[in-house]
Amino acid sequence: MSKVIILGAGAAPGVPSLSCGWGNCNPENKKNIRTRTDTYVEINDTKFLIDTSPDIRQHLIDNKIRYIDAVLYTHAHADHLHGIDDLREITRIRLHDAYMEHGETAYHHGIYNFEGLDKIGDLSIQCYAAKETAKSIRRSFPYLVNSVFSKKKNVFYTPSFKINEVKRNHSFYINDIKITPIKLLDHSVPSIGFVFNDGEYVHIADFKTLPSSVFKQIKVRPKLLVIPLTTPFEQRGHAGFKTVMKIIEKINPERAVINHMATECDYDEINAQTPDFVEPAFDGMKIEW
Ligand SMILES: [Zn+2]
Repeated sequence: MSKVIILGAGAAPGVPSLSCGWGNCNPENKKNIRTRTDTYVEINDTKFLIDTSPDIRQHLIDNKIRYIDAVLYTHAHADHLHGIDDLREITRIRLHDAYMEHGETAYHHGIYNFEGLDKIGDLSIQCYAAKETAKSIRRSFPYLVNSVFSKKKNVFYTPSFKINEVKRNHSFYINDIKITPIKLLDHSVPSIGFVFNDGEYVHIADFKTLPSSVFKQIKVRPKLLVIPLTTPFEQRGHAGFKTVMKIIEKINPERAVINHMATECDYDEINAQTPDFVEPAFDGMKIEW
């Protein structure tokens, strides 16, 4: 079984937002409460996060996510990246589990016994990002990524993230899952999406236009396509509803989910305007296949 959880379905300001309140969204509908975008993906037991929004801490707690094989980054905007520090909790869980495996009482009132650290291998969290995004992560969060995992130091403070640079249209594998980064155009910073297993799952992040190379990477009919909307009308840096629907039709997935919605997008209104196989996302939405 494979699954995707839309951890947060909102655009950068969330819904309600400080500046617009509920905007066009019906406050009575709980599906209109949207935190910032990140996504959990599980395919054949390999577990991924796509992006780490400022709301990731609550997302991980609410969905009981305690383990991931890798984090894939789409772009360096704050609403997709700035929760990265909270992933240090995942490292702490790994360290704790590693200690338990060695039969040591590692975790005592929140303080690690560092005597046995040399028995433990690299606990780094593997992050995958295109060159420009990797550069932003190194610049904005140098304390997380600047050196390799150190066995000698307290991992509460030690850098524990490894950044792997990926290239558009160059596939790589994590366990047995093939991942192809795809080029997304005309967002305000360079942005990529990901095609899993030649199209089984297609994840598109912030974009305004798609190059034809994207469609060439989708070789099987997707079980699921996740695509951002932001606002129904076209914006600088974001495609509007008509463009999004055209792309969904062209990709022709079994199911499509529209996420990353701002206060202009009411759940019921978007739902009423889309065919049955297309749905707006909501926080905590689970899709299985
Ligand atoms: Zn963005």
